[in-house]
Amino acid sequence: MRWEELTADELSDLAKRGDIVAVIPIGSLEKHGPHLPLGTDGLVAYEVALRAAEKEPSIVLPPLFYSYVADMRQFPGAINIREDVLLSFLENICEEISRNGFKKILIINGHGGNTNILRLFATSRLTRKTDYSLYILAEPWAFEREILPKIRETSEIGHACEIETSFMLYLYPSLCRMERAKIAKTKTKPLEETPIITPFDWVIYCPEGYVGDPTKATREKGEKLVEAWVNGIIEAIRKIKADESLKESAVTTGTENPP
Ligand SMILES: [Zn+2]
Repeated sequence: MRWEELTADELSDLAKRGDIVAVIPIGSLEKHGPHLPLGTDGLVAYEVALRAAEKEPSIVLPPLFYSYVADMRQFPGAINIREDVLLSFLENICEEISRNGFKKILIINGHGGNTNILRLFATSRLTRKTDYSLYILAEPWAFEREILPKIRETSEIGHACEIETSFMLYLYPSLCRMERAKIAKTKTKPLEETPIITPFDWVIYCPEGYVGDPTKATREKGEKLVEAWVNGIIEAIRKIKADESLKESAVTTGTENPP
């Protein structure tokens, strides 16, 4: 069920059921090497969300392609949304979904660069007045963790690599320019293998805007990866439907004193 394809009355009837989770897929607009499109993360997150919603009824909102790609701005095609704008935008969307009657909201993230800001968005709800429960699958590929070692042939994965290219070969083959795919030349990240965090543009780590070896990607690997992600989301939506743990804390004024 896609939000934008329903009529107003259909959407309102759906909200009245009371058991429907609203799902927001979020991706990015950023370089994905020479062979994958800029919107890869949102395209994949949207598709896995739709496939999960077919099995476990939910309402899927249009994907958010606009997101946080600060470290990829050096590459053509990146649209970076400032963190303050993105946090307000997410808050605004969740409030509107809730106003329409859907009180459980799940964000499905397809872009690693959004993970930290989504975690911040989640915890910052505790100091706001909200009338909905928020759930976030902040880390892309979390449900693939088990099958990744069985599938991967390459050591370096993470961005437009063997794994991400496999997703795209399965879901959007016509958007993959495989004739341009070759092994990426990557450098070490600043202060790699230390606990020190220092901000750096990805252009100094992967000058071509991708990592690993996408030539090892296959449609078959993509199918298994998608299956794992979709099954993980189905399971997550079921748990969210059953979850009542946030009922009390969801309605707060943001001004409570500590116990
Ligand atoms: Zn990506």
